[in-house]
Amino acid sequence: MQVPLLDLSEQYRRLAGPIRDEIEEILRTQNFILGPKVEEFECALADYCGAKHAVGVSSGTDALLDILMALELGPNDAVITTAYTFFATAGCIVRVGATPLFVDIDAVTFNISPDAIANFLRRCERNAEGRVVDPAGRVVRAIIPVHLFGLCCDMDAINALAELYQLQVIEDAAQAIGAEYPAADGRTHRAGTMSLAGSLSFYPSKNLGAAGDAGAVLCNDGALAGRLRIYRQHGMEPRYYHHLVGGNFRLDAIQAAILKVKLPHLDDWSAARRRVADFYREQFEACGLTSKVTLPAEPYRGRGLTNHHIYHQYVIRAPERDALQKHLAARGIGTAIYYPLGLHEQECFAGLGYHAGDLPETERAARESLALPIYPELRPEMQSAVVAAMADFFAK
Ligand SMILES: *Cc1c(COP(=O)(O)O)cnc(C)c1O
Repeated sequence: MQVPLLDLSEQYRRLAGPIRDEIEEILRTQNFILGPKVEEFECALADYCGAKHAVGVSSGTDALLDILMALELGPNDAVITTAYTFFATAGCIVRVGATPLFVDIDAVTFNISPDAIANFLRRCERNAEGRVVDPAGRVVRAIIPVHLFGLCCDMDAINALAELYQLQVIEDAAQAIGAEYPAADGRTHRAGTMSLAGSLSFYPSKNLGAAGDAGAVLCNDGALAGRLRIYRQHGMEPRYYHHLVGGNFRLDAIQAAILKVKLPHLDDWSAARRRVADFYREQFEACGLTSKVTLPAEPYRGRGLTNHHIYHQYVIRAPERDALQKHLAARGIGTAIYYPLGLHEQECFAGLGYHAGDLPETERAARESLALPIYPELRPEMQSAVVAAMADFFAK
């Protein structure tokens, strides 16, 4: 049986009518860039996420870039982040002229480790103004946690450190739209709303996917939202007057309209993904596979949340990962490795001076992790085929 890692065709079949109607209307009016469709989607998105403001942009990457530009991060600034993430997280830091400072991940959740952040900050000094400076003398301005695979980072711990060391926090929530975090104050917060600003991606394979590239920034501060909108459009305010240099990070009306059709279904899709994850766990336990592979952690399960995990990816750890992937591929089962190489070991960042061995948990995750098929429409018999092929591998 062929089991693809992801198949978006059925989702489209079910929503084809309203999506085509929206596109038809936009083609008729010829209002392609920003405008009312984008504003309607921004309102619906802010509402869904529990943010005061949402600013639609051209991609998740541009969302991060927009935030970093609006906060005026630049040369001689440094940003603490994870090396176990998609490239854009660190790429945007470098593009504004700042330096990423990579710290290790938590071995259980794959997310940035608050202990690793604390250890790093303890090794830093304060300058004359009391700002934290890294060992190379750069001002440490911010932390970018990434809510990886659909699970929120430990934001209470991260925000507490940020307060102690006067750092700004920016969430990369590209993989975690709607994912919830049970804060110590008893409230539940959704990804991207627990810091100064959060970035979302609507890349087609993300849980809420556009028909192309799209993204958004969430924030609760009205002044910052205004700056994000100005930077989104070449620093222009009013038209053709530029007091800052921004970029073209605008969202298309067609993408916004499609996303607005899909958004009301997102919680159902996330619930369906959790059912897929539950089914995998039951079957792996029944087959005795849980002693061979490590299943995803669910630290916020049973805390009364709707989206304790949104399973953007279902990532297991397997010691013989590469052989397992080959075995599954030979049986028609699609898998992927997120991510095969930590960002600290990427060629383009060689100048930052990191070496193999610097981030042991990141490097172990890069060796052991394997993403299995997960999407709302994945059928039980397809999942059973995945489990059977896994059992077959470990029976050898
Ligand atoms: C997808 C992703 C991005 C970038 O989003 P694009 O829309 O592809 O530009 C950034 N960070 C993470 C963690 C992502 O998964």
